Amino acid sequence: MLTVSNLHKYYGDTHVLKGIDIEVKQGEVLSIVGPSGSGKTTLLRCMNYLEKPSSGQLSINKVDIDAKHVSKKQIHTLRQQSSMVFQQYNLFKNKTALENITEGLMIAKKMPKSEAEEVAESFLKQVGLSERKQAYPNELSGGQQQRVGIARAMAMNPAVLLFDEPTSALDPEIVGDILAIIKDIAKQGMTMVIVTHEIEFARSVSDQVVFMDQGEVVEKGKPADVLVHPSHERTKRFLKRIH
Ligand code: ATP
Repeated sequence: MLTVSNLHKYYGDTHVLKGIDIEVKQGEVLSIVGPSGSGKTTLLRCMNYLEKPSSGQLSINKVDIDAKHVSKKQIHTLRQQSSMVFQQYNLFKNKTALENITEGLMIAKKMPKSEAEEVAESFLKQVGLSERKQAYPNELSGGQQQRVGIARAMAMNPAVLLFDEPTSALDPEIVGDILAIIKDIAKQGMTMVIVTHEIEFARSVSDQVVFMDQGEVVEKGKPADVLVHPSHERTKRFLKRIH
């Protein structure tokens, strides 16, 4: 479903991703963990071309691209395969919760307004926010804004959902609510890639965990192996530090 092959990313002379290989199957949840600055967010953003990879191949839902030889049209098609949930929600401040969701449906999917509103309302219901559909982002709590962000991403009906540290801007007491929503979506069989610092969550939700350090995949495999019985020294050190 999603394959990343030999992906490299440079910012100027800084080599941030050093030949990443990842494969996610249909319906699988992959979590990416690792120390700050290891390249997790950059990798996720490369997957839907919010960042341009310097070289390597990407394939999502049978859309294959080679970063060295890619057309605008291919990038556009690749982007349509995934939706991102951002750490800082990234909602339009001058649009209501409902409009934040209908916007993409009407523009990118050319859906008529009434149909877009129906779809948006069903996803707002799924994240428990129906009664706040007319609220603007500044009238919503962080947790509620992230619910809108999740509903917006799901409404686009992507092949893959990408989560970039979805709970790290939230107050600790509501982190669990958002993680529960993400777990629910995973149970529905959605293919997901999640960058997270929540190790216990990663252990319980993931089919596969990737541990990154200094732009490399150090270790990948089942959560019980990578997060409970890691085989690499760097993974062991990281887990010790955060426990
Ligand atoms: P964190 O857990 O703190 O979010 P991360 O593992 O997601 O970290 P990235 O944000 O992907 O790490 O950053 C990887 C490296 O790339 C870091 O050294 C960072 O300083 C660098 N970097 C990220 N974005 C840019 C940019 N736009 N320009 C230059 N360097 C960047």
